[in-house]
Amino acid sequence: MNFSTLVQELPRIGPQYQKKLKKLGIKTVRDLLFHFPHRYEDFSEIIPISNIRLKEQICIQGKILEIENNRTWKRRMILTQALIQDQSGAIKVIWFNQPYLVNALKSGDFVCLAGKLALRKGETYLSNPIHEKIPNPKFQIPNPSLTHTGRLIPVYPETEGLSSKWLRFIIKPLLVGFKNKNLDSLPRKIIKDKKLMPLEKALWQIHFPDSIKLATAAKKRFSFEELFLIQLLILRERMKFAKEKSIAIPLNLKIIQSFIRKLPFKLTDSQKKSTWQILKDMEKPKPMNRLLEGDVGSGKTIVAAIAALNIAKAGYQTVFMAPTEILSKQHFQNLSQLFKNSHISVGLLTGKEKIKNEESDILIGTQALIQDKVKFKKLALVILDEQHRFGVKQRAKLCRQKDFIPHLLSMTATPIPRTLTLTIYGDLDLSSITELPTGRKKIITKFITPNKRQEAYDFIRKQVKQGRQVFVICPRIEPSEVKENNLSWAEVKAVKEEYEKLSKDIFSDLKVGELHGKMKTEEKEKVIKNFKERKINILVSTSVIEVGIDIPNASLIMIEGAERFGLSQLHQFRGRVGRSEYQSFCFLFTESSAKKTGQRLRALLSSNNGFALAEKDLEIRGPGDFSGIRQWGIPDLSMASLKDIFLVQSSRNTAKEILEEDPELKKYPLLRERLEKFQQNIHLE
Ligand code: ADP
Ligand code: MG
Repeated sequence: MNFSTLVQELPRIGPQYQKKLKKLGIKTVRDLLFHFPHRYEDFSEIIPISNIRLKEQICIQGKILEIENNRTWKRRMILTQALIQDQSGAIKVIWFNQPYLVNALKSGDFVCLAGKLALRKGETYLSNPIHEKIPNPKFQIPNPSLTHTGRLIPVYPETEGLSSKWLRFIIKPLLVGFKNKNLDSLPRKIIKDKKLMPLEKALWQIHFPDSIKLATAAKKRFSFEELFLIQLLILRERMKFAKEKSIAIPLNLKIIQSFIRKLPFKLTDSQKKSTWQILKDMEKPKPMNRLLEGDVGSGKTIVAAIAALNIAKAGYQTVFMAPTEILSKQHFQNLSQLFKNSHISVGLLTGKEKIKNEESDILIGTQALIQDKVKFKKLALVILDEQHRFGVKQRAKLCRQKDFIPHLLSMTATPIPRTLTLTIYGDLDLSSITELPTGRKKIITKFITPNKRQEAYDFIRKQVKQGRQVFVICPRIEPSEVKENNLSWAEVKAVKEEYEKLSKDIFSDLKVGELHGKMKTEEKEKVIKNFKERKINILVSTSVIEVGIDIPNASLIMIEGAERFGLSQLHQFRGRVGRSEYQSFCFLFTESSAKKTGQRLRALLSSNNGFALAEKDLEIRGPGDFSGIRQWGIPDLSMASLKDIFLVQSSRNTAKEILEEDPELKKYPLLRERLEKFQQNIHLE
């Protein structure tokens, strides 16, 4: 037996169990051993029978004085009743519907019992406890021979028909079987330097810990290992990438300066700095790999446009990819406008539209751009807007061409917490736009209680009268009665319903529009166009407007059911307004009174900083909810440990050191093998 032994080859695992295990993603012995408990039940303290009180869970140990089956008075159920005695006293035990117990447990046997104390007609008894026979009554606690009682008991993520008890029963003998086999893929030196638990001990201690402290140490080892593997993958990719050739693009300072001078606004300092970093990168004959991050509305597009301008003036092409058709079109319009007098051709290619062709200096579009039939002649720069939405493969496809690799600029407005940046992006070069353009006023964010709804509507009307426009965001498209988590969806504002209400009753004198994902692309585009051209005063929308839409004249966004969205997403919504000199507002409506919701949403009132909010979101909700990150396939354990910046950093440094010493990992065959397997399950951008 080894790690890759299939579960069906194990004794006690037939086709039925094999199927159930598969549901949990468990196919091999390794998967089983790495199916970690998500918590522990503490039965490590054996309570003298005379001391037990009506507590949640207790564990006792003693001798069976008598045991027998009885039928209940209705004769429906069989009760197995027993009397257990220790040095301090005796207690009654009742098991329901497990008549076979009388065959397994005989009077005179010593047992350890863990369960709940119940009270019936003034008599206390232990109800349906887990039982385990003890061969020798004078043993020590913790006792390695105990599995389900008398110790910290692992509780696993379960599926129907696969209980924690069964998993313990299967996993423990496996652990015994792995004694003294050297299977640790972490090099010994790292274990020692980082004071980590060796594999064998860590597996024991994570499944059957002798103390919570040891369980924590075991978990830390596995978290470290996973983060370390992720870092190895990232750094190795990066080393490969650094060896590739790209085309050196001379920095055409005169043209760029004159272009910047003609802009209707002054670039912010960090826009200038980021632009400079990008242009300098592209001067080198190796591919740029840079992430441009900047809060919503910070003005990333113009930075990307300048980079594309420099490329075009050098006689090369840029591809500018956006996640949606709406955004592609917006970029197309913006860039066409910007380069109107510069003799630069801008093209658009989406699933629906094709304006100009592959010859364009700048070709903007959606994923349609990466179809095989699109051929680029002189592609030197790839810009990915909202890059976290793209998969690896797509990016790789765009980057591959015959003689050199194009430079790569990824942009994201989804603020990425620092630990995630380190982990996911490794050493990716980073440019940050840290300030908003001058003259922007802080968006005023407010909670609106139901009794203030009318006032809020009055306020909206006033804004519209002043010439401004308004977004209304609803969490759903159609009203429905479906219940979820006991919270009635009927309460949740639906776009259609809200649209009817606002357009027919409340603002019947104004122009109200609606926008949602179920509409056809042309319909959506038409609505956006009308909104842009101010033919619509109030736009009721689902989260489709979340990313990137730029309507500077909009000054108010009201968000229904705000508790349904993550902080970062709410911040993205809020970023739809405040894109001009007008004072802007964000009204949050919420039906939920849950404490956590309040805490979460309050962060939004106090902070206008997307990065601070992202950190907060990570802290409160965990990285799993972080948009786009699930798709990377990062294991749950390292997901959780992403919060631990020290562990992330330390795993990163270790990975760097080992790759510098031995890039092919020749000295570490176990590690190399593990990395290969790990890579198959993970797909980093
Ligand atoms: P994001 O970073 O969210 O993609 P955009 O690039 O869409 O932001 O820019 C938001 C708005 O700010 C656009 O209307 C853009 O023209 C404008 N803008 C960009 N930079 C500046 C600046 N330095 N001063 C004033 N307005 C700017
Ligand atoms: Mg943008």
